[in-house]
Amino acid sequence: MERQRAFFRSGATQGSSFRRHQLEAARALVDDNESRIHEALRADLGKSEFEAFVSETGQVRAEVNHTLSHFEEWMEVVGVGTPLSLFPSSSEIRYEPKGVCLLIAPWNYPFQLVMAPLVGALGAGNCAVVKPSELAPATATLTSELLGRYFSEDLVRVVTGGADTSQALLRERFDHIFFTGSPAVGKIVAKAAAEHLTPVTLELGGKSPAIVDETVDLRLSARRIAWSKYLNAGQTCIAPDYVLIPAHLAQDFETRLTEAIHRFYGADPKTSPDFARIVSDAHFDRVRGYLDEGRVVVGGETDRESRYIAPTVLAEAREGSRVLEEEIFGPVLPLIPYRSLDDAIEWTRRHPDPLALYVFSKSRERQERLLEAIPAGGSTINDALVQFSNLELPFGGRGGSGAGSYHGRFSFETFSHKRAIVRAATWIDPPVRYPPYRGKLRWLRKLLG
Ligand code: NAD
Repeated sequence: MERQRAFFRSGATQGSSFRRHQLEAARALVDDNESRIHEALRADLGKSEFEAFVSETGQVRAEVNHTLSHFEEWMEVVGVGTPLSLFPSSSEIRYEPKGVCLLIAPWNYPFQLVMAPLVGALGAGNCAVVKPSELAPATATLTSELLGRYFSEDLVRVVTGGADTSQALLRERFDHIFFTGSPAVGKIVAKAAAEHLTPVTLELGGKSPAIVDETVDLRLSARRIAWSKYLNAGQTCIAPDYVLIPAHLAQDFETRLTEAIHRFYGADPKTSPDFARIVSDAHFDRVRGYLDEGRVVVGGETDRESRYIAPTVLAEAREGSRVLEEEIFGPVLPLIPYRSLDDAIEWTRRHPDPLALYVFSKSRERQERLLEAIPAGGSTINDALVQFSNLELPFGGRGGSGAGSYHGRFSFETFSHKRAIVRAATWIDPPVRYPPYRGKLRWLRKLLG
């Protein structure tokens, strides 16, 4: 940290050519090692190459390319207006790097969730200490090796380990902490950050609802919900956690979801090369436990040895059961029937503001009503997950699902300090502000209106 701090203070990271060089190194890291990265993701999570590309290496490449195309324009000093009271000064905003940033990552997209924040930190001219998740060890080891090879340790340093390592890092004073993980650990991070008054970005999770109404094409909605839920075996922070469905359509929707699952993964998803595995035994046991809390419509098969849990739809989950209270983070999708839209809205209010809300409705008026009634980090209408992949949009939560945002320009802003600068003129020095004030206030009021 001392070396990084000294390197940052030298000013070396600030210039645009240095930043460009680092961003190009990040791109080369992905391009040169894509197959090794995909192998590590398969070892940790049984991720198919398609999913590894779409949600990890391809996403990081998109983030780097977008940043490379725009960071110089984001770096530009922004001139802003100046009130008459400060005449004849000028005012501007400068985006300055914060310094040495700590990035703590989870295991579910273990490459992308290290690299995408890192691209933001480097594009904004910072140094970074990176703590990958110990629960995806193959990816953590590889990421550590590659970051060591493509970046100077003065700029990027990887520290591998678990909660103890993370807590040791959190005792240090950083200039920004970017944490992706669970709300419970988010609280620990926020408390540690408060000790040094360090700004934090919290990218957390929660129960993201999908609300379907009777105006939609049920088959299409079921396909999109099944895809977004079972991608990465449901271990996605913005996966639809549960579906609220009009009671009279529940049975039809069960059939549509079952069809979609069979079409995607075959009659026995265990043999599908496209369906991922649960990350650890502890998470397997946790998700496995949800299967007993309702009626299994489809799926329900498990194999502890390979940490396989079939893509499952659960109906009639018991009131107060864990599957309805905790973030599921696995391939189990509860269906909750509702009688009126107000009931559906009320249901979502049992939990903190979610990271995502998905509205499936053709009615513009309903879409607006639900967006207004249910605060969430982000939303997609008539689809799910895809709000994540548009780098023009901020990605982040609110309330219990996080604070702050990133991606594209929003990463740059997160990792920059906005410095306010007024340049005062010296050729004139109106005496009105100086004491003695007698007789000046009336004049000043007139001038300022
Ligand atoms: P986690 O909070 O258990 O771990 C995240 C990181 O924190 C890991 O690097 C871990 O080593 C570290 N950590 C764990 N316990 C700690 C402690 N006591 N003190 C300090 N550090 C500690 O989260 P996870 O299980 O890796 O990931 C799943 C969670 O992350 C879910 O809630 C999911 O919704 C959320 N998530 C959010 C996003 C997002 O972008 N908002 C993305 C992915 C995952």
